[in-house]
Amino acid sequence: MAETVWVLGDQLARRGGALRDAEPGDTTVLLVESDRLVRSRPWHRQRLHLVLTAMRRFAHALREEGFDVDVRPAPLLADGVRDHIAERRPDLVRVAEPTSWDARRTAERLGCVVVRDDRFLCHHEEFADWAGGRSTLRLGDFYRAQRRRFGFLMDGEEPVGGQWSFDAENRQRPPREGHDWPRPPIAPLDDLDQEVLARLPATARGEQPVGLWPTDRAHALRLLDHVVEDVLPGFGPYQDAMLTGEWRLRHTLLSSSLNLGLLHPREVCERIEEAYRGGRVPLASAEGLLRQVLGWREYVWGVYWLWMPEYRDANALSAARPLPPLFTGAPTRMRCVRSALEGVHARAYAHHIQRLMVLGNLCLLAGVRPTELVDWMHASFVDGAEWVMLPNVIGMALYADGGRMATKPYAGGGNYIDRMSDHCRSCAYAHRERVGEDACPFTTLYWSFLDRHRELLAGNHRVARQVRALERLPDLDEVRTRAQVVLARLDEGAL
Ligand code: SF4
Repeated sequence: MAETVWVLGDQLARRGGALRDAEPGDTTVLLVESDRLVRSRPWHRQRLHLVLTAMRRFAHALREEGFDVDVRPAPLLADGVRDHIAERRPDLVRVAEPTSWDARRTAERLGCVVVRDDRFLCHHEEFADWAGGRSTLRLGDFYRAQRRRFGFLMDGEEPVGGQWSFDAENRQRPPREGHDWPRPPIAPLDDLDQEVLARLPATARGEQPVGLWPTDRAHALRLLDHVVEDVLPGFGPYQDAMLTGEWRLRHTLLSSSLNLGLLHPREVCERIEEAYRGGRVPLASAEGLLRQVLGWREYVWGVYWLWMPEYRDANALSAARPLPPLFTGAPTRMRCVRSALEGVHARAYAHHIQRLMVLGNLCLLAGVRPTELVDWMHASFVDGAEWVMLPNVIGMALYADGGRMATKPYAGGGNYIDRMSDHCRSCAYAHRERVGEDACPFTTLYWSFLDRHRELLAGNHRVARQVRALERLPDLDEVRTRAQVVLARLDEGAL
């Protein structure tokens, strides 16, 4: 029987999904490069380069193994599959469950045999079983269930060290200077990289890649070695810190490799366990990374499938502002925002606190339409995907699901950013000021946000104290006036 395995651009695992048991001779492998998808939004150059190059390297490796591989450019994914079927006439086309809602519908419409996805430790149906009947889906509960189920960092039924999370130890303020941050392995660009770059559309933005983001498994494994040996021993304490002159800190940079299928979360968890048991990594660091990979990442994946497709239209705070022009190139004097956006331009990357507490926070406070921030993040980040961005933006950053995911809005003023960064020291604005020309926009908009949503927030015990503080503000009218000025300048690209 002639069989085709259709591999999508984020399914690049030789022994996973529909390719798990495939052998050369029995199977043709199809990879479709959708021209419409490439041109569908102003993607960051490094994101497009990453996916297209990784697909071609994967195709090359399969050919070396003896597979017949059809890399097919087409207007849409569906066109590529239909054309392949018309030409090659396979008896069936097999595909692993796609990671996006729309691609899943496309695969079903095309009559593909959709096999169970195995790129996550917890399948989304298992997540739905876990979620069934629960009134709230707490990450902590899910993470504990994952630890018990898979046995990572466990002593029998109990967590190693007697507690599930060491997060409280992982919120240190950034060190002032003299810190030596680990440097990830770089793979110099070759002819294939250049070939892909030469064909990117003119709408692609951001700087050229430098070989930072792995485009094949060998590089991804070198990055994982580097993480375990160099990053993990000091991982944790500065996870929430931001420094103007240092973008990596001790973030692992593994997300793009995990999201493309170049690495599997199980092997990352196993390496964490091994490093801890071997005495090379403190427990707080090992647990911190395990929580990200085994807890948060799998939780976000499960939530996406549980609440789609309605979830992408959630807008509980009725946010209606267009994405501010500073996200698409307008200058800004806000040092924290500029630093995060310069990083995105240079590397298609910002770490999670920059995403949540700077870029997301600004959009939350200003009332930006959730779908606009989702689209921007999806197009701008090297690890962007709908399943990643929707829960992170709708649920976490913008509280647009009304608290289904986060127990409170992650709103913060300039004081928070000052505590966790060195940005405020060199900023044109004063982080403690809420009114006046020098007032920090975050601080002004923070109070204005509480004011606008005070009825909703007063009933939330996690923010009720701040709402009470609002009622004691002596200059609330001035804050309201200043907030109008700040928002008008934000809209004009002049903040
Ligand atoms: Fe950001 Fe405000 Fe600090 Fe400036 S003062 S860096 S705008 S938080």
